[in-house]
Amino acid sequence: MEDIVYMKAALEAAYRAAGRGEAPIGAVVVRKSDGKIVGVGENTREACRSATGHAEISAIEDACSRLGGWRLSGCDLFVTLEPCPMCAGAVINARIDRVVFGAYDEKNGSFGSVTDLSKLPYNHKPQVVGGIMREECERILKKFFFDIRSRRKMNDLKFIPVKTEEQINTAAKLADEIWHECFKGIISDGQIDYMVDMFQSAKAMTKQIQNDGYRYFFIHRNGVHMGYTAVHEEENGILFLSKIYIKKEYRGNGYAAKTMEFLKELCREEGLTGIRLTVNKHNDNAIGVYKKLGFELTGEGTADIGGGYVMDDYYFKLNVTER
Ligand SMILES: [Zn+2]
Repeated sequence: MEDIVYMKAALEAAYRAAGRGEAPIGAVVVRKSDGKIVGVGENTREACRSATGHAEISAIEDACSRLGGWRLSGCDLFVTLEPCPMCAGAVINARIDRVVFGAYDEKNGSFGSVTDLSKLPYNHKPQVVGGIMREECERILKKFFFDIRSRRKMNDLKFIPVKTEEQINTAAKLADEIWHECFKGIISDGQIDYMVDMFQSAKAMTKQIQNDGYRYFFIHRNGVHMGYTAVHEEENGILFLSKIYIKKEYRGNGYAAKTMEFLKELCREEGLTGIRLTVNKHNDNAIGVYKKLGFELTGEGTADIGGGYVMDDYYFKLNVTER
């Protein structure tokens, strides 16, 4: 039970690393006598341009400097991914009692996967526990690697993850532009302004991305952001397609279909079984596109979005099957 509490702290560090575009790996060192976290580390390989910028190394260094010595006996290390040989070596050198990790690393893991340094006759043998909160630790890594790959795939189209403040500002400007051209005549100008402000301002997007698990991607071609899409994974294993908007001048080129292929690929890689969306009942254009892409009508309803406005929507769903 306590292991989970500390693994959550390591995961928080991993999420911080992800927010900076690093591989999402985090670690904490815990002093057992009082249960205090005495060292925190996250991956900094990109930021520091350093091959040794691993989460475990920085957590161990943090603990050594706080505790005033290199010897960390009486301490445990919690890390979201099985340590590589370098970090497993650092654990041995620091005399750490026990290592608890989340995801297994088949390619580099040195506490069981490729080899197990804790079983070799070194001068110190740490205890090892693997697979604590494994799914969550794996999930953030999978997302990260999917995002990296998506930057170079789909031939001429790229799906660039929206992460930095600058990217969010760009996405918000794009949203303002597209929503006004897309919803004109479907809902009132007042409602468009209200909705852009509520859901697509830089502030709203930042909150969705940082707190609510939304992922935004620019739909990009030849140096131009043609549109964007936003998705959110639901607990039942369905991907909620919150937004897919392409600028008017780029419509009719099959980009929506390619974006849907990209999202299906995302579902397959992350073990999701379908894509769900809601669409305004009067948005004939979008409804036509979704039907063509194989979405099926599953229901309808209205949602009060505040400000005296309601959304009058159809619900659509697409099953995603393995290839
Ligand atoms: Zn390492």
